[in-house]
Amino acid sequence: MMKKIAILGSTGSIGTQTLDVVRANGDIQVVGLGAGSNVDLMEQQIREFHPKFAAMESEEKASELRMRIRDLDVMVSCGMEGMLELACLPESEILVTAIVGMIGIRPTIAAMKAGKDIALANKETLVTAGHLIMPLSKECGVRILPVDSEHSAIFQCLNGENKKEIDKLLITASGGPFRGRKREELLHVTVEDALRHPNWSMGHKITIDSATLVNKGLEVMEAKWLFGVDLDRIQVVVQPQSIIHSMVQFRDGAVMAQMGTPDMKLPIQYALYYPERRFLAGDRLDFAKLREITFEEPDMETFRGLPMAMEASKRGGSVPTVFNAANERAVALFLARKIGFLDIYDVIAGAMEQHHRIEQPSLEEILAAEQETYEWIAAKYE
Ligand code: NDP
Repeated sequence: MMKKIAILGSTGSIGTQTLDVVRANGDIQVVGLGAGSNVDLMEQQIREFHPKFAAMESEEKASELRMRIRDLDVMVSCGMEGMLELACLPESEILVTAIVGMIGIRPTIAAMKAGKDIALANKETLVTAGHLIMPLSKECGVRILPVDSEHSAIFQCLNGENKKEIDKLLITASGGPFRGRKREELLHVTVEDALRHPNWSMGHKITIDSATLVNKGLEVMEAKWLFGVDLDRIQVVVQPQSIIHSMVQFRDGAVMAQMGTPDMKLPIQYALYYPERRFLAGDRLDFAKLREITFEEPDMETFRGLPMAMEASKRGGSVPTVFNAANERAVALFLARKIGFLDIYDVIAGAMEQHHRIEQPSLEEILAAEQETYEWIAAKYE
């Protein structure tokens, strides 16, 4: 039986790797693709995978795409309307959310309501709206299948286990390109330095988030919702070789770890075929050559992204949204060389400080908190 999927963010790092998995397996039908502005790649993807529907960020990009593929029978739409339509295509069974940012939340909710399982890469969805998404997934009887490698690892470690017997989740971190450096050594690092991730090849935003440890913080927040485990039972362990993708400790002291060479195609494929495991081409771990896997505690004083995320998560309500939105803008400012690397933390801290917390924010309140944070930062830094 052909599995039918739609991909939101098909031209990005996760999106293209999802299509690699589709190409390698041959029994997944892509019914819809959505992207931002990369019309060239979208055209190529449409010609290779033959979806019936495509969505682009703007009408301008959608028109350009329509022109390019006028020999094909593909419906092209745009903007939020297009993304929502993509999320709810009647034929699709799974929506892969591989878009960056909170813009992914509404399509995710729409897809769940339309009965689609979610292969979730978009972190912002659970970080900012976990209190809405998790109950909704139950209500709609749909699965949230994690694509992020750490959450997929935990998901794999929990196979056949009783969640009530979890003692703690151990989320591993590579430590990023600046592991071992102190504050003074980070004052003048460049965008190029920060984009040089030691183990993973990813989109720019998430690569910077790895360097600040904000990414790890977002993952902790996401894990809290996804696995229903309190923050004080989630521990971050630095494991620089990125061999252990995360672990679960159970109440009898047993620790289960999922290991492998760092390759996002594994968690993507696992999410698409869960609970089946398929062959995946690529290097295997060679323990004779590997020799050692080492562990360190994260340096929370230098890399404030992690403790700040924990604080945002503890305060809860609308605070994680502010943390996330402020980080998004701070990273954009850093990439545009308007602020320094360490300033990213100050932008986030300032935004969190000025915000008036809302206890159980609705989707509208979440999006409004995001907007207010953007405006506050624009007024102060742009
Ligand atoms: P990329 O920046 O590589 O890709 C983002 C995708 O979203 C692109 O296809 C882009 O289109 C599309 N997009 C951006 N804005 C819009 C918009 N307004 N409307 C429609 N489409 C849009 O990101 P990644 O693949 O790295 O990350 C995607 C998500 O997955 C993030 O939330 C990230 O945190 C998470 N994640 C990523 C991992 C990784 O290894 N990369 C690992 C775990 C999680 P275009 O390029 O055409 O403009």
